[in-house]
Amino acid sequence: MVKPRSVCVYCGSSDRGPPAHRDAARRLGGLLAESGIELVFGGGRVGLMGIVADAAMAGGGRVTGIIPDHLLRAEVGHARVSELLVVPTMHERKEAMFRRSDAFVVLPGGAGTLDETFEILTWRQLRLHDKPIVIVDLGGYWRPLLDLIERTIETNYARPAFRDLYMVVPDIDAVLPALAASPPPALPDFTEKL
Ligand code: AMP
Repeated sequence: MVKPRSVCVYCGSSDRGPPAHRDAARRLGGLLAESGIELVFGGGRVGLMGIVADAAMAGGGRVTGIIPDHLLRAEVGHARVSELLVVPTMHERKEAMFRRSDAFVVLPGGAGTLDETFEILTWRQLRLHDKPIVIVDLGGYWRPLLDLIERTIETNYARPAFRDLYMVVPDIDAVLPALAASPPPALPDFTEKL
């Protein structure tokens, strides 16, 4: 695709994982800023998400955080972003993150990251959108998940074409080239059906 205008990053709200994950989050934020690509994220200042946002802001990038009212305090809404959108519900947060982004990048995270990733994958499977999704498999973090996807295909619960819904890259440096190499969306968004 031509360079995305905005990239949504899904990642953990914890920063207690391996240091390499924090380094990667920092590098991704910096690269997005350097490339003039807006960062869209969950709006918290904690965890990997806070690190990506801080790095993008420090690099002079545009950063949009989207956080539901009830999480504003729990996740400690990020005060130093270009725009912090406070929405009433988790569903509206995910929809707003989707609408404002041309592509999605998945870093290590927990259940919330899994939920967000699978929602965007299943929306693509249902042909509700055709935006690229890049899973960054840092140090093999997502291998068990990718194996589980293979199992769903082997047992005929998913079609082999499910594999075409996402790209897997080993590190941050491969993210922007993967996005550049992905074809432009062949479908408009059917956001009214979300
Ligand atoms: P986690 O990967 O669990 O640290 O969560 C990462 C992000 O996902 C955070 O911004 C959370 O607010 C969000 N999140 C957590 N739980 C959920 C959920 N059940 N549905 C959607 N998003 C969630």
